[in-house]
Amino acid sequence: MIYLDHAAATPVSDKALKAMEPYFSRDFFNPSAAYLPAKRVAADYERAKGEIAHAIGAKATDIVMTGGATEANNLAFTALDNQMRSLTASVLYLETEHDSVRAVAEKYNGMAIRVLPNGLIDLDDLKAKITDETMLVSASLANNELGTIQPMAEISAILKNIKIDRLKRGIKQPLYLHSDASQALNLLDINVSRLGVDMLTLNAAKVYGPKGVGALYVAHDVKLSPISVGGGQELGLRSGTENVPGAIGFAAAIKEAKEHLNGNRKRYAKWKQTLLKELRDYELINKKHTLDNFVVLCYSGIDAERLIYLLEDREVYVATGAACAASKGQKSHVLAAIGLSDAQIAGSLRLTLGETNDEEQIHMAAQIINEVVDAEKERVHG
Ligand code: PLP
Repeated sequence: MIYLDHAAATPVSDKALKAMEPYFSRDFFNPSAAYLPAKRVAADYERAKGEIAHAIGAKATDIVMTGGATEANNLAFTALDNQMRSLTASVLYLETEHDSVRAVAEKYNGMAIRVLPNGLIDLDDLKAKITDETMLVSASLANNELGTIQPMAEISAILKNIKIDRLKRGIKQPLYLHSDASQALNLLDINVSRLGVDMLTLNAAKVYGPKGVGALYVAHDVKLSPISVGGGQELGLRSGTENVPGAIGFAAAIKEAKEHLNGNRKRYAKWKQTLLKELRDYELINKKHTLDNFVVLCYSGIDAERLIYLLEDREVYVATGAACAASKGQKSHVLAAIGLSDAQIAGSLRLTLGETNDEEQIHMAAQIINEVVDAEKERVHG
């Protein structure tokens, strides 16, 4: 098998799996219980949170563990529930965001910020759409269909100037910056202060940790509302018994990801070049400003969905766009946003490289994709 869909899911690493195992059985205790073994588990859980926080330059107390990135993104938007009485709060989000941001932003009547044809945020559109009511701007650090890396520090600087101007005019409405770093954690050296974000979404499932485990970094001055109420865990924002093995596995995975960051980036960049050299008759869609492991190609006149099934027959697994949009048979809103025609969108393939690959697989994948595309062209055009 050649798996080229690491943006959709990553296998849990051996280290993460091993680290988690005792917490399913021997150390199963509820961290809230009063006796010593449970207190030890509570301490291990806090240590894991500290390690996750450390990986992004934050503290354990800044982290709210969640059941994945969807939940973290939803939690971030509860900042709008605490709006100032005098003003209604509004939210801006990038039009290419993952559905877990788009859907919650729509719930809060959010307005979309445009992207440029290269997938980067249109900063002029951002500036034009910010009003005194804007309380939250959400832009993912790296897009999940193109790998496009957004200039967070630049966005943050713009917001900072607006905040200074608001203060001068006596307007107290806060202005928060949230970023979904689900896809970036593995490939970028992330530091919340450097990025200038107030909230950052993390996803264990994309960094060789367990699925259904995520976290939201929250700066001290951001007030959020609970997404679940009950026992008061996670600062009262996400009640429910802590997923101890999940947090432990995430901490181990994130630590490993940090250690391998530079080596992996080099390997993926090299493999990407190999693919671009050995593949034939494609148009490269994500040319610049993208994560090293994302290769998005367009085969004009070809139905990429058919390619996926034909490649599956050869045990090569690739994607068209986001796994969730594809499974619903929807056209990619991301590829439409960067100006691709319907025909180009229909012919687009997303290959995302990762730990399961090696050099030989990359050559093999290029060869198999070429063969399958040639056969499909022959079938369509004769
Ligand atoms: N945000 C981004 C950028 C993603 O790629 C994903 C996963 O596909 C999510 C959010 C949602 O993550 P989860 O399904 O783990 O909640």
